[in-house]
Parts: sequence; C-alpha cells; structure tokens
Amino acid sequence: MGFVAAALGMLGYALVDVYFISNLPDFIDKGINDKNTEYLRYAPLFVVLIFLLRGVCNFVASYCLNWVGTHIVQNMRQQLFEHYMRLPVSFHDRHSTGELISKVTYNTEQIKQATSKALAVLVREGVFVTGLVVMMFYYSWQLSAIFLLIAPVIAVVVRFVSKRFRMLSRNIQTAMGDVTTSSEQMLNGHKVILSFGGQQIESKRFAGINNLTRRQDVKMEATRAISVSLIQVIASFALAFVVYMASYPDMLDSLSAGVFTTIVGSMMMLLRPLKQLTTVNSEFQRGLTAAASVFEILDHPVEQDTGTTELTGVNGDIRFEQVNFSYPGHDKQVLSDISFTVPAGKTVALVGRSGSGKTTISSLLPRFYELSSGDIFIDQHNIRSCTLASLRKQMALVSQHVTLFNDTIANNITYGCTEPVSEQQLQAVAEKAHVLEFAAQLKDGLNTVIGENGVSLSGGQRQRIAIARALLREAPILILDEATSALDTESERKIQAALNELLKGRTSIVIAHRLSTIENADSIIVMEQGRIVEQGDHATLLAKDGAYAQLYKLQFGEA
Ligand code: ADP
Ligand code: MG
Repeated sequence: MGFVAAALGMLGYALVDVYFISNLPDFIDKGINDKNTEYLRYAPLFVVLIFLLRGVCNFVASYCLNWVGTHIVQNMRQQLFEHYMRLPVSFHDRHSTGELISKVTYNTEQIKQATSKALAVLVREGVFVTGLVVMMFYYSWQLSAIFLLIAPVIAVVVRFVSKRFRMLSRNIQTAMGDVTTSSEQMLNGHKVILSFGGQQIESKRFAGINNLTRRQDVKMEATRAISVSLIQVIASFALAFVVYMASYPDMLDSLSAGVFTTIVGSMMMLLRPLKQLTTVNSEFQRGLTAAASVFEILDHPVEQDTGTTELTGVNGDIRFEQVNFSYPGHDKQVLSDISFTVPAGKTVALVGRSGSGKTTISSLLPRFYELSSGDIFIDQHNIRSCTLASLRKQMALVSQHVTLFNDTIANNITYGCTEPVSEQQLQAVAEKAHVLEFAAQLKDGLNTVIGENGVSLSGGQRQRIAIARALLREAPILILDEATSALDTESERKIQAALNELLKGRTSIVIAHRLSTIENADSIIVMEQGRIVEQGDHATLLAKDGAYAQLYKLQFGEA
C-alpha cells in the first residue's frame, strides 16, 4: 500500500518535471517569439501550480517510502533477532557475536537507506531521465538518435561499476562486523587488558581493522566519483553531437528555436539526474549486498525440531547408548562409545581432567548438538523423537558459565517460568540457595538490579542465583556443570545442603572437580579423552586403586 503510494508520488514528481519542460517550446515559440501576452499572463500561475503539485508528490513519495523502508528494517531486525535464537548452537560456535550484532544494526540500516532514499532517487530520476529522452525523441528524433548509440555504453559502465560497488560493500560490511567484534572483545575483556597491559595490542589491532574499513570507503567513493564523471563525459558527447548538427543549415531550418533550445536544455538537464543516479547506485548496491547477507542468515536452517513426542510427567531415567560425537566442523572425536544409565532419582557424577568431554556430555542431553552416532533415551523416549521445547523443559541446567540478565535478582531467579511465582515461593527458593543471605544486604533486596551479566555480584553470588533458578524450575532432570566451582569452601558447604535438597528425587548429572562434593553420588563415571575409563561408587573406585583413586589422592595430597 505505502509502496504503491510512494511509487505514484515519485512517478508524479518526475512526470510533472517532464511536463513542465515539455511546455518550454510552446512558451518560447508562442509566448515570447509571437509575443502572445495572453499566454504569458497564465505562465506564472502555471509555474506556481506545477511546483505545488511537485511539492505534494515529493512529500507523499518521501513519506511513504520512508514508512515502507523503516517497516522493512523493523521486520528484518525482528526476524534476524528471532532467527538467531532458533539457530543451532553449532552456528553460534562458528560465528562471532560482533559479526552477528553488526548484521542486526549496520546491515539492516544499509537496507533502509537503499529502500528509502536510494530507491526514491532511482525511480524519480529514472522516470525523469526516461521522460526527457522520450520528449526529445518526440520533438526531434534525428537529434535524439544519438542516445541509441550512447545508452549501451552507459549501460556497460553502470554494470561494471555496480559489480564493483557490490564487492566493496561486501568488504565494508565484513569490516563493520570486525569493528563490532573487536570492540566487543575489548569491552568484555577490559579488565584482562588492563591487568596484562594489553592496551597497545588492542589499539593496534583495532587501528588495523579501522583503517581497512576506511580504505574500503575511500575505494567506494573513488569508484563513485569516477563513474559520475565518466558517465557525464559520455553524455556530453550527445550534447556535442546536437550542437554540431545544428551547424547544418538544413537542420536549423527544420527546427524552431524553441525546440532546439529545449533539446539542448534537456541534455544539460540530463546531466544532474545522471549524476544522482550514479551516486545513488552505490547506496543501492550496498543495500542489495546487505540484504543478501541478511537473507543468507535467514535462510540458514534452524535447529532441527522434527520430534513429535511431547515429553510430560517424565520419571527421569537417562540412558546413553554407544554415543559418539565430534563437534560440527571439527574432525576430532570428542566422545567415543559412551554408554551409561542413570536410574530415575539417582545422581551420577562425571569426573576427569579438563577437556575430557564432561561438559560435552551435559550439552548433548538438551540436544544442543546432534549426535554423530548412538542414542540417548529419557525414560523410553529417544530424545531425537521428542520436541525440543518439551525435552528442555524436563531439565534444569546450572553451568560453569552463569548467565544473568540485566534485571532484578527476583526476575533472574524466575526467568523462564511460565506460571506466576508467588512471593513465598521466591523467598523459599532464595533462602535455600543462600541468595537471601547477600540480597538482604543490598538496598532493594531481591529487587536489586544487578547490571549486565550481574557485574555487581561476585562469582559465588551469581552461582547462587543460578542455583535458585534451577531450584524453582522443578524439572525432573538436573545438570550441574561445575555449579559450585566459584564458591568458597564455606559457602559451598552451606549450599551443599541446598543442593542435596535439589538433588533429592531428581535424576542428576553432576560435574565437579572438587571430588569432596561428589562422594555421595550413586555412581561416579571417570572420563579420559572422551572415553569412560571407570565407573562405580566412591568406595568401590577407591578400592580399585585406578584412575579415580589417583585423582582423589592428587586432590587430597595423599602420597
Ligand atoms: P570438559 O568439560 O571435560 O573440560 P569439554 O567437554 O568442554 O571438556 O571439551 C571436550 C573437548 O571438546 C575438548 O577437547 C574441547 O577442545 C572440545 N570442545 C569443547 N567445546 C567445543 C566446541 N564448541 N567446538 C569444538 N570443540 C569443542
Ligand atoms: Mg567442562
């Protein structure tokens, strides 16, 4: 709708211009040469009316185009944002956050420029140029025939230049992604940079990227300037040709002064829109490139959610059967032949050196990644046959990286709860996870806003909030991946009580490097380079005097 209105507006604008110019011959021939005062008296009124009409058309076109452009960008941003959340975890592993952010902010902005401003100029001036040329042919096809020669040359130039614009735009957009990535990395790691004195390294890195971006911009501008001049020079041949033809008496006789002036005038007038068209072409190509990059993301397949079983009322039996796994795009096999079971309500602990694949096991259960081979069952359901939402609803995950949102403590605890949480429930959970303990000292208690990713909290405090969040979720399956690693022994002991409560009646997979926290687990699995090397309870494994016993001795300093 808005688009049609905009198109009509631009069409009107251009046609009014052409109409105005096409009246010039009459004005000169009838009005001035024939001294027709009647005609001349109406001319001023005509001029004002024409410009009024032109103004209205221009407003309608600009407004509507902007309306359309901003809506397109709004939709695109929203779609991108939502698409990012549906893309598989492996996609996010491969792409930098900065690159993805700059697509939402910068690339979509380029599309807006192209759809609003550039498109307006393209249509308006395009129609204007076409109108002028048609009019010239109408008045004197002999003089205008030169365009038949020149148009293809211009077309070739435009084609070549457009290609180059697209190439440069792609570079600029990639460079903008790098600028964002680099800034983001610096901001996230600024404490590390300060403490390691990395300012100069970062400045240099950024200067390089920054300069690359600038150079692409200069190249773009150079191409634009050269193409404008080139096209104008080519067009000037047409003008020269007309003037040259006028030197033939035959030609002069067949043309009135008005027609001749109009044609020469029109040719001169052609130069400005030609320049604008060429200039705006670069923006248009930028928009096209940006759109292509955005659509490439939107076309990227989302997480496979082909399962149809809705998991409800799950007991929580977990079974891994001969699971092999490598991260997508990596050759290295991270898990080999992993088979184990966790009966409902029991706790299994995963131990092993870092890099042995513990976290990987815990991220296969919510299907963050697809297995290379093998199966995982919850109760009797293969997790592949379940819907992702219902599968993930069955588990609460507390990982080694706590993610908190820039919101109040209370809202962070209740995050993702579909039903409203009562004040008592919240208090009880906060109490159990020892959140109240520190929240009470804050100005607004549980309603204190904690800043981006909880900057105003200590690592241990953040983990306690994450534990409270898991407590509230009441999922039958619990995954704790180094959930207490940021706690000191004192707080850990306190929280252990809460955790024991949390573990009660739930199937749990606990990963902890402090072995003291897992001695009570029903079963302990010892991992080494992606394989299970030992399995049993604490006492059995110690008695076995194998890998577990070794780890245990290492930790407790026993010879
Ligand atoms: P753990 O939790 O036992 O310390 P992980 O499961 O995190 O070990 O890692 C196991 C192996 O998988 C490591 O060798 C690591 O390099 C690799 N790995 C972990 N995450 C990824 C990833 N997102 N992409 C590729 N390789 C990964
Ligand atoms: Mg880990």
